[in-house]
Amino acid sequence: MSIVVQKFGGTSVATPERIAHVAQRIVNRKRAGDQVVAVVSAMGKTTDSLIELARSVNPNPPAREMDTLLSTGEMVSMYVVAMAVNALGEEAISLSGRQIGLVTDAAHGNASIREIHADRITKALSEGRIVIVAGFQGIDGAGDITTLGRGGSDTTAVAIAAGINADVCEIYTDVNGVYTADPRIVPLAQKIDVISYEEMLEMAAAGAGVLHKRCVEFARNFGVVIHCRSSFNDEPGTLVKKMSEDMEKAIVSGVAHDMSEARVTIHDLPDNTGIAANVFGAMADAHLAVDMIIQNSSREGCADISFTTPKADLARTREVIERVAHELGASNVEILKQVAKVSIVGAGMKVNSGVAAKMFRTLANAGISITMISTSDIRTSVVIPADRAEEAVRVLHTAFGLDGSAVFEETQLSAEELEAKAKKGR
Ligand code: ADP
Ligand code: ASP
Ligand code: MG
Repeated sequence: MSIVVQKFGGTSVATPERIAHVAQRIVNRKRAGDQVVAVVSAMGKTTDSLIELARSVNPNPPAREMDTLLSTGEMVSMYVVAMAVNALGEEAISLSGRQIGLVTDAAHGNASIREIHADRITKALSEGRIVIVAGFQGIDGAGDITTLGRGGSDTTAVAIAAGINADVCEIYTDVNGVYTADPRIVPLAQKIDVISYEEMLEMAAAGAGVLHKRCVEFARNFGVVIHCRSSFNDEPGTLVKKMSEDMEKAIVSGVAHDMSEARVTIHDLPDNTGIAANVFGAMADAHLAVDMIIQNSSREGCADISFTTPKADLARTREVIERVAHELGASNVEILKQVAKVSIVGAGMKVNSGVAAKMFRTLANAGISITMISTSDIRTSVVIPADRAEEAVRVLHTAFGLDGSAVFEETQLSAEELEAKAKKGR
């Protein structure tokens, strides 16, 4: 008997028919002799609709109320999935983030998990029940509802898998696994059979939204094996796990892109010691994320600082940065939304030189200009104009020999769902 955590994303529970299908999958697993916890996302585009609703009455809704509102999407899903499981003759119990004691910090909208009290889940499992958990939500120290950031149900699933010592965490989604690039952008992208935590972490951080970044961090820290696969078929998907040191490492395993960030530049900051500490300290105090950073060498005693940050928090970022820029005596703040980050990721980059140069050359040959660059051991990222992002991903995918022969074909999603996917992150 294995303990299995299964997570079903929004597309997988978008309609009553798909919920019935998901319930059948859960029940089949239980009847095969396993203990099953299912974590569910909000149905279809519910989260987007709730955000739109909130903004229609208040362009800058209070973070606490927003989180409580958004958490209802996952609550509806879990009740309905529990009912569908029950209709198939199995006993299911639905549990919210609060009920499973998923405690987070107080960073509304992007909370980090602090602890999880798994006893309620393990007790229900030992009583022979199937447990259905609402993803994406927790409670902070004050007992208020928090959410884990867009795509955060993946992280709920992996945190539970770690908490109950599950044998595997299966993330069911609307593609067959993790591909060498988003298959909706690169039809020649190939499914990856096995990928290391490190590479997956870089891919997720670089915008490969198929897995939430924090879920991969959690999985690595607690040794949880993730199986990312399709909820529409039984094909094996992608295993994310620890790889042995001697395994052959691809120089570039994938190309990722991220349209969700904006570039902020503070011009002409008087170049005193500690300006970066002041700017990024203020962002950190406001729980605002920062990704790539460039500080230009000073001219005439002044420096420019540019960084990328999620567009979703741009209203608050603008407030914080305009205040800090004023306090520090900068000349002005410029915010550019039409940017994209494109990254190549590969464990083999560590030992192969010239990979970054090849990336820059490939983009230059396509006439795509680069405004920021950042690197890690196994990743090189560039910021480019948003309208060139898809082309950049495709030319890099080809240049690094990742194109396969099979063309990705979407058969399961409606035209409306495909349009919603295409808009995601913009
Ligand atoms: P879910 O609602 O199931 O959590 P998501 O939309 O969050 O699904 O994630 C699945 C989507 O991730 C796919 O539909 C695909 O367009 C996108 N995606 C981006 N990069 C990749 C990649 N490298 N491999 C697979 N899918 C990717
Ligand atoms: N429903 C949330 C979202 O759309 C969380 C998730 O699906 O993982 O981002
Ligand atoms: Mg997701």
